[in-house]
Amino acid sequence: MSSATDRPSSRRLDELRAPQFDRLISASSIIVQPLGAVEQHGPHLPFNTDLVIADRVASAAVERVGEAHDVWLLPPLAYTKSNEHAWSSGTIWLSATTLLSVLDDIGRCVAQTGARRLVFMNGHGGNSALVGVANRELRLAHGLMTFLAHPGVPPDQGGESAAHEHGMGIHGGADETSLMLHLAPHLVDMAAATRNIPGGLVDNEHVRFGGSVGFGWLSNDFGADGHIGDPTGATAERGEAIFETAVERFGDALAEIARFDLPMT
Ligand SMILES: [Zn+2]
Repeated sequence: MSSATDRPSSRRLDELRAPQFDRLISASSIIVQPLGAVEQHGPHLPFNTDLVIADRVASAAVERVGEAHDVWLLPPLAYTKSNEHAWSSGTIWLSATTLLSVLDDIGRCVAQTGARRLVFMNGHGGNSALVGVANRELRLAHGLMTFLAHPGVPPDQGGESAAHEHGMGIHGGADETSLMLHLAPHLVDMAAATRNIPGGLVDNEHVRFGGSVGFGWLSNDFGADGHIGDPTGATAERGEAIFETAVERFGDALAEIARFDLPMT
């Protein structure tokens, strides 16, 4: 028998009880899986930077539009494919094949709920290519509609970074550092923030982050500190603006995902 206490207290899937779950999750439900990372982020940012950003953007957006569009949030996956930082102790990473298997397992379980839409909110650019592969595998294997979103499009994938970073603010740079100054300032050490822009790439026309020719890289290919970008001018105000934009844009995307349907025949 349902009662007033049968109402969900949040849009967090793992806080539901089984009878609520059976009543509330249906083919119209959208499941959001944040993807974090536990990886070195230079001397000034914590290992959990991508985890904090992905989880907070996803949580805030689902809080805003979840009720309107039947969106539900899964707990973040903390460990993902961070092997470009394998050289740094404290980086806890899954191999590409392991992460692909984990995403397939998550997809299989989501498909079993009856929901048809699974959205990855990915905070770590090093996952993007693999999640793109996983999205097609999940569509074929489990019939899900699958989506890949980011808090902000990574600069090495066509997104922007601060002008003074010359498109190189891809890891621990101005935007990520500003976001963390807004979301978790107690974890940031601005006294340790230094500019690290790979000059050898800035002058390249093709072989550069976001250029027409991609290349395999490790984060210590550009210096021992491990970050790539210029965090020195980062501010909490800039972080708040970036966060608000990210939450609003992801909320809008979820509304569109709710209307999106495959096959389109
Ligand atoms: Zn990051």
